[in-house]
Amino acid sequence: MSTTIVASMSLVNGLWATGAVGNQRLYPARTRGPQELDSMRYVTTDLWQQERMLVNGELIAASAEKVFENINPATEEVIGCVADGSADDMDSAIGGARRAFDSTTWSTDVEFRVHCLRQLSEALGRNAERLRSTIVAEVGSPVLLTYGPQLDTPLAGINWVADLVEHYSWEVDLGTLAPFGAPSRRYTRREATGVVGAITPWNFPMQINLAKVIPALGAGNTIVLKPAPDTPWTATLLGQLVAEETDIPAGVFNVVTSQDHQVGAQLSADPRVDLVSFTGSTSTGRRIMMAASQTIKRTFLELGGKSAMIALDDADMTKVAAAAAMQITAHAGQGCAITSRLLLPRSRYDEGAEAAISAIGAIPYGDPTDSSVLMGPLIRESQRERVLGYVQRGLEEGATVAVGGGIPSHLDRGYFVEPTALVDVDPTSTVAQEEIFGPVLVIIGYNDDDDAVRIANLSSYGLSGAVVSADLERARTIANRVRTGTISLNGGTYYGIDVPFGGYRQSGIGRESGVAGFEEYLEIKSIAEPA
Ligand code: NAD
Repeated sequence: MSTTIVASMSLVNGLWATGAVGNQRLYPARTRGPQELDSMRYVTTDLWQQERMLVNGELIAASAEKVFENINPATEEVIGCVADGSADDMDSAIGGARRAFDSTTWSTDVEFRVHCLRQLSEALGRNAERLRSTIVAEVGSPVLLTYGPQLDTPLAGINWVADLVEHYSWEVDLGTLAPFGAPSRRYTRREATGVVGAITPWNFPMQINLAKVIPALGAGNTIVLKPAPDTPWTATLLGQLVAEETDIPAGVFNVVTSQDHQVGAQLSADPRVDLVSFTGSTSTGRRIMMAASQTIKRTFLELGGKSAMIALDDADMTKVAAAAAMQITAHAGQGCAITSRLLLPRSRYDEGAEAAISAIGAIPYGDPTDSSVLMGPLIRESQRERVLGYVQRGLEEGATVAVGGGIPSHLDRGYFVEPTALVDVDPTSTVAQEEIFGPVLVIIGYNDDDDAVRIANLSSYGLSGAVVSADLERARTIANRVRTGTISLNGGTYYGIDVPFGGYRQSGIGRESGVAGFEEYLEIKSIAEPA
């Protein structure tokens, strides 16, 4: 792999999670890669379609052979069809997962599970280039991002989880105590939770599917995965690989695709499901929690965000602007952890805002198969309308569009929105409070450090954030006061398979990745024996 690609990948990893403040470039260098990157254009291999879904060990069509269309958001073309699973299909998948959990040794045979995870890692690796083409086509993701968080980074993380499973302390000795006179030896034992319903969104589908499926399998659970209808192939292909290239037993891993959200909702209500692991919007998370409450089902929720990048008054505004521009445009702002609010000190507001506006105006966007492009389209037309609606709302509430704000005139197809910045934004206004999930940065002024912290925390979310300062100790002090699950100081990157990721407040419950992410899928049994 060329050093340029490696540099671009680390840049992309960084900016996806934090913004590469330390990197002066506004966007990655033009890359020429090892295989598919030909000149400036990524040459897509044949799209790898999978109309069937894995249910109870078999790749099946939906009942009544119903299908729905998979659309490339950059071209608006139908690229294939997908099984449109029904309530009956979901019922079969849940039944299969329940049987596999209750009647096989999957949940107790650690060595076999590690073997299967490593098999799956190899199978995905062998098929990475076909997956890359498919992700670019169905997600509309810039190909550059597939060398980082859209594909290569999560694939590399599977063996980290396999190692964790292999060496994990399933039992922990608590020693001997005699609370009622007779001494007992006490210990805890970690056990799989049972049947996991995994419900995922469309923005980083392979990464999020794997972030749930791999630790859940490693912990000994069985799974029904319900992917977003916009990006089904990342899940159906995973099902195909599990069925054809691993020894994972029938029923342990199931995939149900459907364009009906209510099919996914069955996972929250069905008493045979023990845990729902969900990534998506806060409003859907709320519905899942309510439905799950009927069976006191565990819910693990990774939800929305409206994170703040705080530039302190001693920050290098050129670097702040570059990082803010890359954050808000990477994958067209369709990232939960993106810092979509830029907080600037009033004493340097004009300087910082002008730098950010010019950086955003310089971001290359367009055809996601172009290897120099950092920003592709939004996922679908309704999402574009939603984003443009927010821009309009910002204007109505007194903000000014400083750059962008519309549909690019030079792109005649695809669900694109111009990279956009709104200035003079009131921190309590709709665009400063609600998740836009598009390439729209809101720039807000603050009076002093306390005011910056107040505004950063003036949110129902708490997923991520960033602080930039010439003084790292000062940045740390501010970061410690921001109520958020992850935070970057001066461009540090927290994104990684070993790092717990998740939100405070309405950004979610629980942590994905790291040991904490693995343990979300385990129960604790406390045992006592006569000493
Ligand atoms: P969404 O909530 O609309 O849908 C997510 C998934 O939930 C889809 O598979 C959908 O079919 C399913 N779903 C919808 N209604 C359901 C119901 N009532 N019961 C069960 N399942 C249901 O989210 P989206 O538009 O696909 O994704 C964007 C959202 O995801 C944003 O809010 C973003 O911040 C969030 N997100 C969060 C993280 C994180 O880790 N915190 C990561 C990525 C995306």
